[in-house]
Amino acid sequence: MKKIAILGSTGSIGTQTLEVVEQNKTELQVVALSAGSNISLLEKQARKYQPQLVAVWDEKKAGELKENLADTDIKVLAGMEGLLSVATIESSDILVTAIVGMIGIRPTIAAIESGKDIALANKETLVTAGHIIMPLAKKCNVKILPVDSEHSAIFQSLNGEKGNKIDKILLTASGGPFRGKSYEELENVKVEDALKHPNWSMGKKITIDSATMVNKGLEVMEAKWLFDVSLGQIQVVVHPQSVLHSAVQFMDGAVIGQMGTPDMRLPILYALFYPNRRTLYAEELDLFSIGTLTFERPDMETFFGLSLAYDAADAGGNMPTVFNAANEKAVAMFLDNKIKFLEIPEIIAESMQEVYYQENPSLEEILNTEKATYEFIESRW
Ligand code: NAD
Ligand code: MG
Repeated sequence: MKKIAILGSTGSIGTQTLEVVEQNKTELQVVALSAGSNISLLEKQARKYQPQLVAVWDEKKAGELKENLADTDIKVLAGMEGLLSVATIESSDILVTAIVGMIGIRPTIAAIESGKDIALANKETLVTAGHIIMPLAKKCNVKILPVDSEHSAIFQSLNGEKGNKIDKILLTASGGPFRGKSYEELENVKVEDALKHPNWSMGKKITIDSATMVNKGLEVMEAKWLFDVSLGQIQVVVHPQSVLHSAVQFMDGAVIGQMGTPDMRLPILYALFYPNRRTLYAEELDLFSIGTLTFERPDMETFFGLSLAYDAADAGGNMPTVFNAANEKAVAMFLDNKIKFLEIPEIIAESMQEVYYQENPSLEEILNTEKATYEFIESRW
């Protein structure tokens, strides 16, 4: 029995992880769950999966959940202490980081230090603290198993290729709901338009990130850390059908990729059972009904958030944190109708110019950079 803990069990990746558990009940057991504030769903999950521990970020909601679960033996914790306890719970073998945003850094680091393998969905953590996490994982001999569909595809493509030189990573992108649009056409797009992703159903933050293509920028940085390649080796390829989930081009020109339906349960399943495969009870890929696969270069001028990501990654140090924190803040402001769509990359660009640069930041310095970025944005917008 593999024992799993989940950070962010009530979200898109979290609920799909529980569906994978449901399909593999004899092999997977949930020992800890956590959520930001959705205690009604968390209570249902807790009653169904009977974990030892649940954690809620919001202190008040945690108190309410504790009362609601008083008839059970399930322990309820709150805040960062709760997240850290879920991440490090003694009985778990693997932590699924399905939480959104760089709030996931501390629990992910704590889990690695406790020897837990990580099924990593929470890309913001790797973008901002990859230089701490990757060496730490190596030192603690734990696996970082990608859940992000592109990175899972790359990971699958690299299976059995140890020692063979990667020429390029072909990181595919759907292009999001605004693919092909001009800068002017994006000026007045509404939150509802940006939330309509053509192929994937995901949490709100990553859906907006897909519309700005900042998501692909974060994924470039994620790929750099996971696969130890240079930025110049990562080519974003717009592929609107989202069938080829990404590929690796090797030194001999061979391109090995992974295709499938746009279903996150496959990369979750793969991460949980790696290196083995299990049956996924879901719709199968039907190449006949798809017919055509197309590929385009990304429009890095209109979607300049993607180009800013390459700049941030190139600068290194705390710049990816500035990039990420500015994006998290700007997306929240956009979802609250406080700024326009195109102000998201503008805020990122200004933050990257105005917030201080620091090389090789420690965890504390990363969190200080996040704070400084938030303060800068609040003082200007
Ligand atoms: P979501 O918004 O649907 O869910 C986020 C989860 O995190 C929820 O359970 C929420 O309660 C929890 N959470 C948020 N803030 C919290 C806090 N302060 N403390 C504790 N819990 C908190 O997001 P999602 O779409 O599932 O994405 C999760 C992560 O996975 C993100 O990093 C995203 O980029 C990545 N990802 C998602 C998808 C996808 O298909 N949804 C695909 C690839 C990668
Ligand atoms: Mg992805």
